[in-house]
Amino acid sequence: KNGLFLGTRYESTAAASDASDPPVEKYEYQAEVSRLMDLIVNSLYSNKEYENIPSVSTMTGPVNNASDALDKLRFLSVTDQGLLKDAVDLDIRIQTDKDNGIITITDSGIGMTRQELIDCLGTIAQSGTAKFLKSLKESKDAGADSNLIGQFGVGFYSAFLVSDRVVVSTKSPKSDKQYLWEGEANSSAYTIREETGPQNLIPRGTRLTLYLKRDDKGFAHPERIEKLVKNYSQFVSFPIYTWQEKG
Ligand code: ADP
Repeated sequence: KNGLFLGTRYESTAAASDASDPPVEKYEYQAEVSRLMDLIVNSLYSNKEYENIPSVSTMTGPVNNASDALDKLRFLSVTDQGLLKDAVDLDIRIQTDKDNGIITITDSGIGMTRQELIDCLGTIAQSGTAKFLKSLKESKDAGADSNLIGQFGVGFYSAFLVSDRVVVSTKSPKSDKQYLWEGEANSSAYTIREETGPQNLIPRGTRLTLYLKRDDKGFAHPERIEKLVKNYSQFVSFPIYTWQEKG
């Protein structure tokens, strides 16, 4: 299990625009993650025969993670009431902006500290993904790869099946700071910085923003999202709300 791999920190610079902005720190993905991302971005998606798989796993991955984060919060709050001090409902909200091709999935769950961001999104801690990569070694053709991805899921990284850029804003009750993780398809590094500004802050939990690839912008459609959520996330035990940005 590679859960404690810390990534390679190779740069820490003050933001160019304003010296008072929190610094942006850049990290390299663990090698296995780079391999997985490369596969997701370059070989899987180009296989149109399996085009249903990206759209399904793009929503089920984040919704499952949101649901897990809410479960963790609920579980931990039994012994630590203080975790619920930000009296926000336990739910999942999916917002679509179809003109700009943006999907936002927000949960009010456990969130991540800065260290948890590095440990969780940049390494492969997940057994499903590890199994996926292992099976992948035994197969070389793209069709089989797509089937495998459907079978195991690739969790968080499936966001890159349809997105050029993925942004994660997250606030853990264990930290008084909110952090912003940002990754791009076709990049071997991601960045983390503290997020400030009252308009950006969330009381608790995680907001995942998917900036869809040009060909996938139509995916940011409330009816499409609702259908996927109904079909594939019906066992999630928290309310899921979907709405559309007013044009
Ligand atoms: P898995 O969910 O199977 O562990 P992922 O790659 O999907 O694998 O996610 C990796 C980890 O990132 C999760 O185990 C969790 O610790 C963290 N994570 C992902 N999404 C969220 C979220 N919405 N809230 C809190 N933690 C999250």
